[in-house]
Amino acid sequence: MTDLYRLLPEEMEKLVIDMGYPRYRADQILYPLYYKFPKTISDLKQLPKTMRQELVDAGYTIGSTKEIHRVVSEDGETTKLLLNTTNGASVETVLMQYPSSKINGHPRSTICVSTQIGCAMGCVFCATGQMGFETNLSAEEIVTQVIHFANILQQRGEHVTNIVFMGMGEPMANYDEMIRAIKILTHNRGFGIGQRHITISTIGIVSGIDRLAKENLQIGLAISLHAPNNELRKKLVPTAGPNSVEDIIEAGRRYYEKTGRRVTFEYALMKNINDSPEIASELALLLRNNGSHVNLIPINPTAGDFERPENDNTIEFERILYNAGINCTVRVEKGTEISAACGQLRTDVMN
Ligand code: SAH
Ligand code: SF4
Repeated sequence: MTDLYRLLPEEMEKLVIDMGYPRYRADQILYPLYYKFPKTISDLKQLPKTMRQELVDAGYTIGSTKEIHRVVSEDGETTKLLLNTTNGASVETVLMQYPSSKINGHPRSTICVSTQIGCAMGCVFCATGQMGFETNLSAEEIVTQVIHFANILQQRGEHVTNIVFMGMGEPMANYDEMIRAIKILTHNRGFGIGQRHITISTIGIVSGIDRLAKENLQIGLAISLHAPNNELRKKLVPTAGPNSVEDIIEAGRRYYEKTGRRVTFEYALMKNINDSPEIASELALLLRNNGSHVNLIPINPTAGDFERPENDNTIEFERILYNAGINCTVRVEKGTEISAACGQLRTDVMN
């Protein structure tokens, strides 16, 4: 079985030509896939009936993930979908809307996609990490996470404005499928979202960052740092071993030099763990003069007993970075009450 959402537009052309049909038939598949959201091959009405049957007979399908549950936050701005993959696994995907931040008159609508079920990196503060690693998602399972929300938004006259790879899993540990999904999502004959509207978040796998830098894409990069030194970082990210803080910072610098895109460092703030003024100063020293941005994330309640810092401590941490000339913001979390915020995704419970 091959999902048509797996194919790059060039591969779709090759498929129709190999089947003995003219090239334009590829667009009669691609256009509906990305603008009409068909559920089955028989919904591709522009294709001759015989061609649809030939596709089915050759093992082509549509839609590798099925919606099985939907939860919406009280303010209506965050929606979490539980999707089932064809091999029975479940994955979570989140839509976050920002009505006050309009893009061409539409609310900013960011989809947070997952690249794996579970995660092998084992970060002690992250619910996905505490699940352990289950499986890698295929490109079509990543693409169709976006398609589900594109369909929901289209019915409201809205559309997907941004995609962040910040759901379950470590994108760099599923590199080939992640990059195939990005190529399909950004291709002008595919989903067609601008490269600059996509951000990948990584725990800091240096080889993956360097590989991504060479792709010649304008994708945004966020690196989850969480600590300014290796000793503390290893306590929070037990698998950090091969990628030292210094190597990660250097990889971020290379990414910026190669792509011209500023890197964001994510820093989950945990009370009495990595939130002291001394640690803020150490972080400021580490990041000074490298033009990057720090995104502070007061930790969300999840696995482990980590607590959010007091607001005053967060403000003080931000002030120290700011005074050292480092661009810094505090992330406003959305969807905490429906367990849809950063680090809260897991699939054994659906709140
Ligand atoms: N594996 C990637 C992407 C998924 S996690 C990564 O770690 O970057 C996306 C972001 O959520 C990361 O910055 C991660 O550190 C953060 N995160 C994980 N658990 C969290 C929690 N409990 N509270 C707040 N942020 C969390
Ligand atoms: Fe994996 Fe990212 Fe969670 Fe760490 S924070 S366990 S890398 S998903």
